[in-house]
Amino acid sequence: MINATDVLVIGGGQAGLAAGYHLRRAELDFVILDAQNAPGGAWQFGWDSLRLFSPAAFSSLPGRLMPAQPGEEYPDAEHVVTYLTDYERHYSLPVHRPVRVRAVDRDGPRLRVETDQGDWSARTVISATGTWWRPFIPAAPGSGVFQGRQSHTVGYRCPSDFAGQRVLVVGGGNSGAQIAADLALDPAVDLTWVTQRPPRLLADDIDGRALFDAATARRRALDEGRGDTGGVASLGDIVAVPPVRAARDSGRLKAQPMFQRMEAEGVRWPDGTTARVDAVIWCTGFRPALSHLAPLGLRGPGGRPATHGTRAVGELRLHLLGYGDWTGPASATLIGVGRPARDVAREVAQLLA
Ligand code: FAD
Repeated sequence: MINATDVLVIGGGQAGLAAGYHLRRAELDFVILDAQNAPGGAWQFGWDSLRLFSPAAFSSLPGRLMPAQPGEEYPDAEHVVTYLTDYERHYSLPVHRPVRVRAVDRDGPRLRVETDQGDWSARTVISATGTWWRPFIPAAPGSGVFQGRQSHTVGYRCPSDFAGQRVLVVGGGNSGAQIAADLALDPAVDLTWVTQRPPRLLADDIDGRALFDAATARRRALDEGRGDTGGVASLGDIVAVPPVRAARDSGRLKAQPMFQRMEAEGVRWPDGTTARVDAVIWCTGFRPALSHLAPLGLRGPGGRPATHGTRAVGELRLHLLGYGDWTGPASATLIGVGRPARDVAREVAQLLA
């Protein structure tokens, strides 16, 4: 038997829930399918010391403020999971889990959605599957011969997992800086932090709010043909959340330029010297998790479907929500996904009408 719905949302993380909020307000018939056992999306899997880079009041989904976390200016991941769990319940969002979508394909006037729990037929699909599930590790010369442990941001939990080890953290974004800071503050870990270019910390008084404003201003300028304002990248790469500040102020958070190549027992630096390394943690980002869309044949440059706003140019019944600036300014953030989610619901309602 095939289940039918007007709108099918794939992914029950923050982006899927924000879509659900606006679909409910538009009084549309919809379901949300989520692969996880519990609410919270990727926030369930972050490392122990992971902190939001914005205060709670600036990290809210539409309709419901995130409460402050007692004693913490920047909430931790568990607080976000609690908030998303409550959000889902409060709005009685129809999330089915665990249900993993395997494929979306055209089926005449409808879209067929194949899952590990049976198939669905939908008039429109909103893909909101995030990026956590597709960690990216760049090809590094010699990485195949390195005999130590290699992992990615997604596998990192806490410094005690690396006690007594020489650890190399690669990456100059927020994840790299936060994980390097975590390790730098533990005297049992011998940390080296490498970045492709010198790390650019934002001023201490700038947080996710300013990033959201910058991303929005950039989108507006581009839409109005006023040229590129540079967006978030014009401000810096790393929000100086308290642990990053503490590590920086202790003098232990110093980045070095990238190594030249990996060798069996460590790395070789551009000046020919070598360093012994037990573990490398690649904090080198993510790619959108879109393999379920492969049957639609929408892959464009960089492996992403071309979009106009959130709508796929090659399949007007498909929207992509929450993956990054290419689907709406700051749409991969809690505060930023509300606006594109509202636009998606509006466009979907027009299409269904
Ligand atoms: P996710 O949270 O990944 O949710 C997607 C859901 O879809 C998951 O439950 C997943 O299991 C499910 N799914 C995936 N594929 C399928 C499938 N085929 N079928 C069914 N379900 C599927 N943002 C902020 O606003 N503030 C921050 O401080 C901040 N810090 C961050 C720190 C890190 C380390 C990272 C990686 C991101 C951070 N972000 C932050 C960005 C953003 O808020 C998170 O990435 C967020 O998890 C994105 O939400 P999402 O709903 O798009 O994706």
